[in-house]
Amino acid sequence: MAKLSKEGGNLSIIYTGKTKNLGVIGYPIHHSLSPVIQNTVLQSMELDYAYIAMPVKENELESAVKGLKALNFSGFNVTIPHKINIIKYLDEIDGAASLIGAVNTVLIKNDRLYGYNTDYEGFLSAFQAKKFSLKNINGLILGAGGAARAVVYGLLKVGVGSLCIAARNVVKAQKLVDDFKKMGNIKACDWADVSVNEILQKADLLVNTTPLGMYPNVDKMPPVDMSILSSKAIVYDVIYTPEKTKFLIEAEKYGHVVLNGEYMLAGQGAAALKKWIGCKDVDIDLMRIALHEALIKKI
Ligand code: NAP
Repeated sequence: MAKLSKEGGNLSIIYTGKTKNLGVIGYPIHHSLSPVIQNTVLQSMELDYAYIAMPVKENELESAVKGLKALNFSGFNVTIPHKINIIKYLDEIDGAASLIGAVNTVLIKNDRLYGYNTDYEGFLSAFQAKKFSLKNINGLILGAGGAARAVVYGLLKVGVGSLCIAARNVVKAQKLVDDFKKMGNIKACDWADVSVNEILQKADLLVNTTPLGMYPNVDKMPPVDMSILSSKAIVYDVIYTPEKTKFLIEAEKYGHVVLNGEYMLAGQGAAALKKWIGCKDVDIDLMRIALHEALIKKI
């Protein structure tokens, strides 16, 4: 990576033949902020890597993966709609990705493709940033899709006391419970059932993993009565557009500490970067600031 001085003294990054390549594949991909967060930190660490967003349609996944390998990419992120389908093109996937059932990060090393799921690490990074302990807490998770699986894996891995998965589709919630019950104390319920209120009263953590409230449907939120929730409970929404969903605004009215999905997005990016560049520390705060600014500026 070379730095050239422009008129006015600003520095601009010049990529060279030695620059290593990283990126993200998905479709659509134009909205992705991963290039912003990754390139900000790569440049701050003066690492000679470039990270780009690459539109890959569903039926082009296999040829895209072969192409990235042939082009000597160091690794790449995987997003919608490929997080599950990518698995069949990988040489190995780690235990977390296998249990979660999705891969969001691929490392290419010695001509082999290794799959990981760093979404759960991203989710947990919010608690590390705020120094909140999750040991033995009771969690109530709303929704039973892909994000919920990463959230559940992360929470059980760090030793929460109990988890309840409340969803509109209780069959899907029960399937998630069956997949994770070996890891800890977890049960499913129908979020329309009155029994949810008892769990709400005892919850130390309430997490929305559904898209309810995500831009442009900002007037929506999952059907929970925040007035019942224990006053000390933390409320976390994995959505990051808008910055504060109706769910979080409602929680703040009752004095709850709230966390949004910016932590999860920046944190999964930091964990992916560590795997690609093989280092222990990445400036996760810088990633979150870059993400936050990009969201405000609507880059
Ligand atoms: P998903 O696999 O499609 O799962 C969505 C879950 O929400 C399912 O349980 C689904 O229920 C439920 N749901 C969807 N629409 C609903 C509605 N109108 N009413 C009630 N329940 C509804 O999606 P996902 O990948 O988990 O993503 C969910 C959200 O997490 C999205 O907003 C996404 O942007 C966000 N996310 C954020 C990050 C981050 O880094 N911050 C990472 C991943 C995902 P059914 O199964 O019944 O449809």
